[in-house]
Amino acid sequence: MSNQQTMSFQTEIKQLLNLMIHSLYSDKEIFLRELVSNASDAIDKLRFEQINRPELNKGEELAVKVSFDKEAKIIVIEDNGIGMSYEEVIENIGTIAKSGTKAFLENLSGDAKKDANLIGQFGVGFYSAFIVADKVELITLKAGETTSKGVKWISDGAGEFSIENIDKLDGNGTKITLHLKDGNDDLLSDWGLRSIIRKYSDHINYPIKMQKMPERDKDGKEIISTELETVNKANALWTRSKNDISDEEYKEFYKHISHDYNEPLKWVHARVEGAQEYTQLLYIPSKAPFDLYDANRRYGIKLYVKRVFIMDDAEKLLPNYLRFVRGVIDSQDLPLNVSREILQSSRDIDAIRSGSTKKILSLMEDLAKNSPEQYQAMWQEFGPVIKEGVIEDHANKERVAKLCRFASTNNDSTVQNVSFEDYIARMKDGQEQIYYITAESYNAAKNSPHLEIFKQKGIEVLLLTDRVDEWFVSHLNEFDKKQLVSVAKGKLDLGKLDDEKPSEEEQKQQEEQAKPILEKIKSALTGKVKDVVVTTRLVDSPACLVVDNNAMSLQLERLMRQAGQEMPSMQPTLEINLKHKLLQKLESSIDEATTNQLSLVILEQAQLAEGIQLDDPVGFIKRVNSFIN
Ligand code: ADP
Ligand code: MG
Repeated sequence: MSNQQTMSFQTEIKQLLNLMIHSLYSDKEIFLRELVSNASDAIDKLRFEQINRPELNKGEELAVKVSFDKEAKIIVIEDNGIGMSYEEVIENIGTIAKSGTKAFLENLSGDAKKDANLIGQFGVGFYSAFIVADKVELITLKAGETTSKGVKWISDGAGEFSIENIDKLDGNGTKITLHLKDGNDDLLSDWGLRSIIRKYSDHINYPIKMQKMPERDKDGKEIISTELETVNKANALWTRSKNDISDEEYKEFYKHISHDYNEPLKWVHARVEGAQEYTQLLYIPSKAPFDLYDANRRYGIKLYVKRVFIMDDAEKLLPNYLRFVRGVIDSQDLPLNVSREILQSSRDIDAIRSGSTKKILSLMEDLAKNSPEQYQAMWQEFGPVIKEGVIEDHANKERVAKLCRFASTNNDSTVQNVSFEDYIARMKDGQEQIYYITAESYNAAKNSPHLEIFKQKGIEVLLLTDRVDEWFVSHLNEFDKKQLVSVAKGKLDLGKLDDEKPSEEEQKQQEEQAKPILEKIKSALTGKVKDVVVTTRLVDSPACLVVDNNAMSLQLERLMRQAGQEMPSMQPTLEINLKHKLLQKLESSIDEATTNQLSLVILEQAQLAEGIQLDDPVGFIKRVNSFIN
């Protein structure tokens, strides 16, 4: 039966292949890393399958074999793992673009070396074969199937592949033959391949085998041996003793499990004993993964039970706000047939999660204390995600809050490097509260009219401009018994800090004096503001908007609207600065039309300063222009 079928690669995969073939040449040896990694994944999957289907265990050694033929210019990578069915081959390699494919293409920098390193991270490793080969042949048989269910896939990477059913007599697994392009003869050597394997794949848990190197006899003649030898270390790194593992090995292992070819920032490796016995090897990456905010992101923890790989992406093993952590957890106690469903509601898993969370928090605390620069680098990458911990992780709320860093009026930069503790240490005599402002951007926060009185009095204000900040402050009312107070909410009460506070008598008198102008503005802005009052917080600006203490901030209201939520428009209070020229002008205006227009401009300016979209921007421009001459 001739059942050969020719199929087209999916469009994005074509683009990807084109790139592999034409531009990712500088790091060509990574093809081996990717194919060996796939082979090792396939063996992991088979081992896992064997738990419930012992008949799949034929007692043979699970291993990856690498060989080459100098004359034929081929390299062969072979595994006896899970293999693939006909449909799986079509699905996995060729016709269905994984979410990573698109993301990979979007994340290309043009720097071939960097781009080559992205390959594994985005789950497009198989195609790297075409960096060195102009023809790739894959033969595979799914574990548990009869030999006649073999599949042969061939492609030159140009746009199509052929696929057919064949007999595969040497058992389940996958064999990939690379027909090398010209100019790759350097890869066809015992030493060459061994050194690439040791460089990238030493920590693969299974033996990677190659034919023994030829020896020479007394007369210098080569004796070719058909015996195989293992060229990598082939043991689970995390099961070894810390003292026997070099930093280099830890780093390589990180790259292997995370598919991130940047070095990790820091790691922790510990064996936990007690009610739950497990080993954890957890890494903090130095760079955020591309899908940190993607709801379908991959999670970075691999779960093993007694060294048997159980699952990737074990999202239950760490809370969401630590989703950037990568690593391995190997449990002694969980059942081998543990499933995602069991993980959902397992007390054993809860214990592991809570232990691992504490380990990571300690690691961060240690960084913050002993290597502030590294900590800062980490905060730069993951700060907004870590802040989610205050919302998500009730048990560790205080610890997480302590780890948070913010931009502040104390610095003149966007860098978030002020902790609550730093802030408290700098609080003014008599200051009892921690002041903050939330805004859409650093500049909007820093230049906000709400800060004027604070600047004048030299009181520090934290500038919160991450999207998560509104939720952050709504879950954190205080730190170290000091209340967190928004400078844009409620009646400003500086308490003991207000040294120039007028006496009650004077205040009454001022209010009385201001009544006419307040009434004028109120009637001009009927239905647009809740109230108009004389400010205590402005120095230079004419006006600002303030919401009630327990109301949603204007910034949050805007974020909710952006997220598509219907929001009733809240009416803020307009605070006016009577010392400002515009208000003096308004005070002396006797013409009602001018009064109305001026009042509107004052409101609109205050809205703009809050980052609010004006109802009638063109009208605003006309109004402003009419006052210019
Ligand atoms: P990733 O490994 O990140 O999933 P790849 O492009 O490297 O992405 O591989 C694509 C898919 O092809 C794998 O997820 C796997 O399902 C399948 N695959 C690749 N190589 C093998 C192999 N040696 N054995 C079984 N399946 C494989
Ligand atoms: Mg892969």
